[in-house]
Amino acid sequence: MAVRSVTATAPGKINLCLRVGALRDDGYHDLATVFQAVSLVEEVTATPSAGFTCAFSGPIDVSNVPLTADNLVLRAARAIAAATGYDGGVHLEVIKRVPIAGGMGGGSADAAAALLAVDALWQTHLGKDALMSIAADLGSDVPFSMVGGTAIGLGRGEDLSPVLATGHFEWVLVPHDHGLSTPTVYRELDRHREEHRLEIPPVVDCPDVEMPLLQALRGGDPVLLADYLVNDLQVAALHLQPELGATLEYGESHGALAGIVSGSGPTTAFLMPDSTAAVDLVDLFTRRGQRALRVLSPVHGARLQ
Ligand code: ATP
Repeated sequence: MAVRSVTATAPGKINLCLRVGALRDDGYHDLATVFQAVSLVEEVTATPSAGFTCAFSGPIDVSNVPLTADNLVLRAARAIAAATGYDGGVHLEVIKRVPIAGGMGGGSADAAAALLAVDALWQTHLGKDALMSIAADLGSDVPFSMVGGTAIGLGRGEDLSPVLATGHFEWVLVPHDHGLSTPTVYRELDRHREEHRLEIPPVVDCPDVEMPLLQALRGGDPVLLADYLVNDLQVAALHLQPELGATLEYGESHGALAGIVSGSGPTTAFLMPDSTAAVDLVDLFTRRGQRALRVLSPVHGARLQ
């Protein structure tokens, strides 16, 4: 029987640790990261259609999301059509909650949810391995949004292994109005490293994840975890948007255990000791005129509804 519509969800992420290796000859960097999925979730509904179209709505401003063929949800649908020979189309409605160009993998989450929704709508029955392989082709953060939870990502971030984490962590996220382009942030990091190469430790080719961070996750201890949050891209994001420094300082002096730029930024993420402190910090940022959100981590990956 023909299915009328299918909805899937997928989470955004923060990087608890993001180590960036030296610039490779092919222009990429090897990464060592620990992803954690957060309770900020994209929702994608797929309905049958003759062509390939998408529409965006939600609690954030979606007016700048490109609706062209390079939108990640349309690329996800076309990738399934190419892999299976399916010759119909699809319309994808996205409810967007993850900040756009915010360093939280929102587009990747849209792609992950679209893969599940389209595969179910078209009944193409791609197995997990085939979906994960298409996910990796779509973007290095897409496989993580498929699996969710907590995971180490190596290579460009797509070579995943799960990490044992107990309990839940409380975060306050502060999105910023002007997004940062991920390639621009990497270029700024390369420029900074070149300019300061005599003052900073040599940059390793293949970075690694620090053991104490994994121990803090295993113990579910936010106080310990706060000591090991690290992001090599933060210095570059701060050069490009210096006002992020004031946001980090404000959060850290108003109850956060630690603050960090999420991925390539500019969203800042504050690790909180408990829910009361998180609610209070959201309130303080709001009164200061900055939008802030309380989220929990880790949460599960992409799912059919
Ligand atoms: P990441 O953390 O994975 O590097 P990000 O969270 O910083 O990415 P996204 O919101 O995923 O950034 O989007 C980055 C760019 O990708 C956008 O500026 C937009 O031009 C393009 N894009 C393509 N598809 C989407 C989508 N479905 N949602 C948002 N942006 C999209």
